[in-house]
Amino acid sequence: GRRPLIAGNWKMNIDHLHAIALVQKVAWTLKDAGHDFDDVEVAVFPPFTDLRSVQSLVAADHLHIRYGAQDLSTHDEGAYTGEISGAFLARLDCDYVIVGHSERRAYHHEDDAVVAAKAQAALRHGLVPVICVGETAEDLEQQGPAAVPVAQLAAVLDGIADRLGDEAAEIVVAYEPVWAIGSGHAATPGQAQQVIGRLRETIAERLAGPLGADRADRLADATRILYGGSVAVGNVAGFLAEPDIDGALVGGASLDARSFADIARFRS
Ligand code: 13P
Repeated sequence: GRRPLIAGNWKMNIDHLHAIALVQKVAWTLKDAGHDFDDVEVAVFPPFTDLRSVQSLVAADHLHIRYGAQDLSTHDEGAYTGEISGAFLARLDCDYVIVGHSERRAYHHEDDAVVAAKAQAALRHGLVPVICVGETAEDLEQQGPAAVPVAQLAAVLDGIADRLGDEAAEIVVAYEPVWAIGSGHAATPGQAQQVIGRLRETIAERLAGPLGADRADRLADATRILYGGSVAVGNVAGFLAEPDIDGALVGGASLDARSFADIARFRS
């Protein structure tokens, strides 16, 4: 089975001094509650400037919390002012990196080609890309719920298919309807399951050509697909009860240690 992943995207919140306190508090709250990290994985996505502090804390205290960055460059190094390479993230022991978050698509004009190149860069450096897809309210009205996220995922899969031929290559997908992010109005578990089921089929269909049907089916079956958008303590269990939903990408509620720990404890 797929191991659930509860991931906290801090966005542009929490500086490196506060990051230590937040990660420590999450870790201790979960430890006190007897959380089994092998049963439900927990990861945080702090700002770049926090990563070194988080790395030091996790290593020094042997914490089971994983972490990653919220973005990376399509390039590996060179004259790209302001960019951060996947190589640097790998050196900080990041496991993951988010690519294609709707806020980057909207405010930094990242299109599917850029997101695919970023997912490629992540895999090149041994990082698991958390590939975000999701429709806006306007997309939903005009094209229904699944069309835009399916097309976004298909475009990224086309760009990374050659890397996914490697048995060890792993990806995570996050379905985040833009209208649900930060709105306090999450999708219903049924709505999310409907789209996420289609996303899983898309992996199998889209990769059958380049990888062969068997490998594509296995990858579709193994890939964790998360729901994101106003996830809270009160609604997380409903999402995880759905057959294709393997976790949550949590924004606002991940900034509070108690809330985030309670979300990770969705089974109890
Ligand atoms: P909220 O949980 O604040 O709605 O944010 C979701 C999100 O965008 C996570 O990446």
